[in-house]
Amino acid sequence: MDLGIKGRRAIVCGSSKGLGRGVAEKLAEAGVGLTLNARTAETLERTAKEISARYGVEVRTVAADVTVEAGRRLLLEAEPAPDILITNAGGPPPGMWSDWDRDAWLGAIDANMLTPIMLIKSVLPGMIDRGWGRIVNITSATVKSPVEELGLSNAARSGLTGFVAGVARQVARHGVVINNLLPGMHETDRIASLLQKTASARGMSVEEIRNEAYAANPTGRFGSPQEFGAMAAFMCSRYAGYMIGQNILLDGGAFRSTMG
Ligand code: NAP
Repeated sequence: MDLGIKGRRAIVCGSSKGLGRGVAEKLAEAGVGLTLNARTAETLERTAKEISARYGVEVRTVAADVTVEAGRRLLLEAEPAPDILITNAGGPPPGMWSDWDRDAWLGAIDANMLTPIMLIKSVLPGMIDRGWGRIVNITSATVKSPVEELGLSNAARSGLTGFVAGVARQVARHGVVINNLLPGMHETDRIASLLQKTASARGMSVEEIRNEAYAANPTGRFGSPQEFGAMAAFMCSRYAGYMIGQNILLDGGAFRSTMG
């Protein structure tokens, strides 16, 4: 399917690995030029080379922490007029409600709520002027259904979700489309390290923990970054113009709900 976005330009945050990379690959496959971002320059450069070699699109890189203002400034200097913005960064650490002090809360809110909001605020005027834009925020299935020990993530991402619900409707008439994509369990480094931690805590092997998690999912597996990226690319396509302020859950059916 031709997504109708060949020649467009995208900023993809947190995209040297995992879900961000999955999105970058599928946008590149659709002919979109990219500015990729991650903190570790070496992995970022390797990913950029692989993507530009495979898909023949121009790929720029910005090695910076997107959760700080200086990092976001560098990103916008490298790609000042993006047609597409994918917001993403690492998630807050797991823990217990009684351990999180004000600083832990401010860190989570900064990274997973204010960072995407500030990026959205920066790119919206240009998208509105040009009459076209696509923004996809990578949030989490925990916005719909909490993981108890991920309280920092559950809360900060819910704040972003509330903001997007309003602003998406304010800009829709200008051809700008904003939605959230909610990953459940996907095969990435982050999940591999979470499985490792659970295995150590429960005195089990990673394989046992992994099989337990697979068995608990209706599909019997985790999602792949490629599947995730393909959905995000569709949400950035010319065909997504009537999809406004939605929260699309990709979790293999793990969240039990008859509707919504
Ligand atoms: P991942 O495999 O660890 O990849 C994260 C990517 O983002 C890497 O390229 C990383 O590179 C970059 N990154 C992290 N923090 C950054 C920062 N502050 N500034 C710029 N780049 C940054 O993680 P993932 O599994 O793809 O997860 C992506 C997001 O989805 C996370 O917020 C995660 O909580 C959420 N999520 C994932 C799953 C899942 O199953 N994978 C499920 C629910 C939610 P550097 O480390 O070099 O910066």
